[in-house]
Amino acid sequence: MENKDKIKIAFTISCLAVVSIVLANKIRKHRKRKQNISSCYLKSEAKPQQNFKRVLASNSYAPFKHLKLDDSSSDLHPYESEIKALLEKPQLEFEFCNAIMDMDMSDTYVWVDDESKLEELVEVLSKERVFAVDTEQHSLRSFLGFTALIQISTRKEDYLVDTIALHDIMGILCPVFANPNICKVFHGADNDIIWLQRDFHIYVVNLFDTAKACDVLSKPQRSLAYLLETYCGVTTNKLYQREDWRQRPLPTDMVEYARMDAHYLLYIADCLVAELKRQKNENSAGLEDKFYFVFEANRRSNALCLQLYTKELEASPGQSAASSIISRHLNDHGSPTNNSQFQDLVRRLCSWRDLMARMHDESLKYVLSDNAVVALAEKVPSTATDICTTISQADIEMDSVSSNSSPRFPSSVVLSHLDDFPYLLQDEINNLDDIFQLVLKKHLGPNGSCPFSLYNYGLLSKSNTKASKRLVSKKNGYNFTKKVTRKASRELFVQKFSCKSPVYHNCRIYANDGRLLCYCDRRKLEWYLQRDLAKLVDEDPPAIMLLFEPKGRPEDEGNDFYIQSKKNICVGCGEGNHYLRYRIIPSCYRIHFPEHLKSHRSHDIVLVCVDCHEKAHSAAEKYKKKVASEFGIPLFVHKVVNSNEEHDVSGSSTSLMKLGDGGVSPLELRTAAMALLRHGPRMPPGRREELKEVVKKYYGGRDISEEDLENALLVGMSPHEKRRMRKKRGLSLNSSSRNFVSDKEVESSNGGVQLSSSNKALNIDIEDGSDASKEEPNLVATDNISDTPSLYSAFSKNEIYEPKNASILDLNVDSEITDPSVKQNGSIHPSSDSAIFATCSSKLSLLGHGPHGKQVVDFLMKEHGDDGVREFCQRWRQVFVEAIHPRFLPAGWDVTHSGRREFGEFSVYNPANKAPTPATAAKD
Ligand code: AMP
Ligand code: MN
Ligand code: ZN
Repeated sequence: MENKDKIKIAFTISCLAVVSIVLANKIRKHRKRKQNISSCYLKSEAKPQQNFKRVLASNSYAPFKHLKLDDSSSDLHPYESEIKALLEKPQLEFEFCNAIMDMDMSDTYVWVDDESKLEELVEVLSKERVFAVDTEQHSLRSFLGFTALIQISTRKEDYLVDTIALHDIMGILCPVFANPNICKVFHGADNDIIWLQRDFHIYVVNLFDTAKACDVLSKPQRSLAYLLETYCGVTTNKLYQREDWRQRPLPTDMVEYARMDAHYLLYIADCLVAELKRQKNENSAGLEDKFYFVFEANRRSNALCLQLYTKELEASPGQSAASSIISRHLNDHGSPTNNSQFQDLVRRLCSWRDLMARMHDESLKYVLSDNAVVALAEKVPSTATDICTTISQADIEMDSVSSNSSPRFPSSVVLSHLDDFPYLLQDEINNLDDIFQLVLKKHLGPNGSCPFSLYNYGLLSKSNTKASKRLVSKKNGYNFTKKVTRKASRELFVQKFSCKSPVYHNCRIYANDGRLLCYCDRRKLEWYLQRDLAKLVDEDPPAIMLLFEPKGRPEDEGNDFYIQSKKNICVGCGEGNHYLRYRIIPSCYRIHFPEHLKSHRSHDIVLVCVDCHEKAHSAAEKYKKKVASEFGIPLFVHKVVNSNEEHDVSGSSTSLMKLGDGGVSPLELRTAAMALLRHGPRMPPGRREELKEVVKKYYGGRDISEEDLENALLVGMSPHEKRRMRKKRGLSLNSSSRNFVSDKEVESSNGGVQLSSSNKALNIDIEDGSDASKEEPNLVATDNISDTPSLYSAFSKNEIYEPKNASILDLNVDSEITDPSVKQNGSIHPSSDSAIFATCSSKLSLLGHGPHGKQVVDFLMKEHGDDGVREFCQRWRQVFVEAIHPRFLPAGWDVTHSGRREFGEFSVYNPANKAPTPATAAKD
């Protein structure tokens, strides 16, 4: 090679070197700059689940997909038929360990952490008739949690399956778990069953749950610790439950604990089965049924296997947590001065927290504790240092009482994404949805700061970001399992119907001698203050002292109830996250009470959660039937009328009411009539006949004309409503044989709340061409419209939440608004009974059992006077108490509450004060 060439090559090489050095520098700088903007901790921190290649439950808002054995319906449990077969005919395993149980746990066990060992284990298990199982979970550094260890014990050996190492191939175990000929013994399998589904699509078929056996035997305790001590003489320390089960190698004490949880189960199961067999039970033929209790324990166990794992879905991400944080805070601390800002910030932070937890696969608790959310929303720190200090302080307080597994604070999620806080805490973006989209884009979008993973990529799918939109669109291809839908429906129900702010403000009114008269809401205080009848004596929560001498003191009258502060929780179960008002005395009676007996609303309107509401409501409906037969006053109208005759079924005349064979409620009647008028000619003949039967019932079975249908529309309405209805429909009731009104005409004309709702409900029913929505007429007909709305039952009966139900929901929201005492002022107290009575005439027609209610009350007053009504109230309180066994009724609440209270000079119930009383200044 010539020198020239050598120089050329050398030059080229050095040029390349320079260029590459410059480039490398540039890239390094760029990387550095990028990292400074937002360096997600996940880029340097390794978490075990990042190695999983197969993740069944991701952190997206999409529902969980269960194992599909064939092409059959996806909502079903894949082994439903096998489990149901076991429920009918249990496969009994009477000898779990043949007494060759090694009571002293040996030193040896098998640590299963590779594929061949797992295969060997399957080999062993498939030859067993029974084996014991337990699982350990990790939940702090994972959004949905994951199984960190499975302990399996046979009669001869303890196996510890490293489910982190084997995560992706755990499916090898599916067949033995689903094999109905192999019995699996768990203790308290409820959670294990669904955790195994969530992580590995492992479905347990043929379960013996020692906790269920304890239930059947009515054991004093059902904990594993108790069983271990009584049957095996060993003690455990359940605090290990909370250890970090991701650790590898597992510390020896944790290995010991884990083995113990499964090792003795077969022996314990044997002991329990022996006891179950000793329990005597005679069958229907009077013969002793030796296996009755064994079967029962078996049945209860296998029923557990039918559970399906579902992801919790909520209409708006993070918002159920936000609501519970808010209500807990208001309960404990009263409302802060900047209440609406506080609530807004909590909602934003919870929305952010939910998304960040999903994105980074961390628990909510790890990302940002509830305490930290509250502290941030209260203090609204603006600098990074202040934000961190606020969080640490909030968590340090909490940490002193919680276990060692709580995170270091602020969490790495917060620390590496501090730049999110300015827009979370400052009021730049108003909409939760916008925040959500922004966070998503910023962190997970094309140039996002955080790594993609199997857990979070699903979040990017557009349709997955807004759960509430998806809930109503089954047509878009989302198939919700029944349970998810039920949960989502319930969630929506809670959102729509529960009280939006705390009901009890717990303001106080003192007499001029300083004695407490009652607790009440703010409006009532203002009423007195504005009239110079009281002076403010305390600020937070506010209290006033009356400047006049009130009539009597509650304590002296045995009305202690009124001087108790009241908690904003369900009186039944103590649920504080949501609650709605429940009227213990059904409105259909109460609105007909004489005025002076109505003045004790706060005693007989209580807060309950939807579940307790459901129970109370259905008990009340049942009891109404009892009242109906006892008094001989039917719940439903039943009338024979001539089609020419204008009739009035407002309930004043007893002759209109007939007892006996199946009357029809005004609502049912009107609903049916409206449907026939609107869709009669087009509806399926079967459905048409059914609806005609409903109307015929009212007309005593005779054939009905179109005019009868028109008349039926007005049944149960007040004169005013009738007029309005006629005007809207442009009807002359006496006109004969008209054409069916067109849809459009009715659409634009149905102004009456009741009619439009029943109408729409049926309309949808018919347009579906299906008969499946029978609930709907009932839904509107169960007296729930202005009384105690119990839509949830009807709601959840419709397993799939479709648009048609959405409209029903909205309708009923509207109709609840028509109850002025409920919606408008957010408190039980403010609307006076007189105000309610003013709207009563229009409400009357909305009450399914209006005429019945009036007649019952008239009868009571006539026969027994005030005491009759008081005794009647007591019966309803008794019904309520028996229905839900309330544990959180305010002190002083009493079934025999007399309701006797005299009215003072200035009481808003004093007839002399009636006229100028504002609707908002109520008095109990
Ligand atoms: P065990 O059924 O006792 O084996 O518990 C199984 C798993 O449930 C544990 O690994 C924990 O993740 C979880 N767990 C059970 N009870 C608790 C508890 N009281 N606190 C926290 N985690 C628990
Ligand atoms: Mn365990
Ligand atoms: Zn990140």
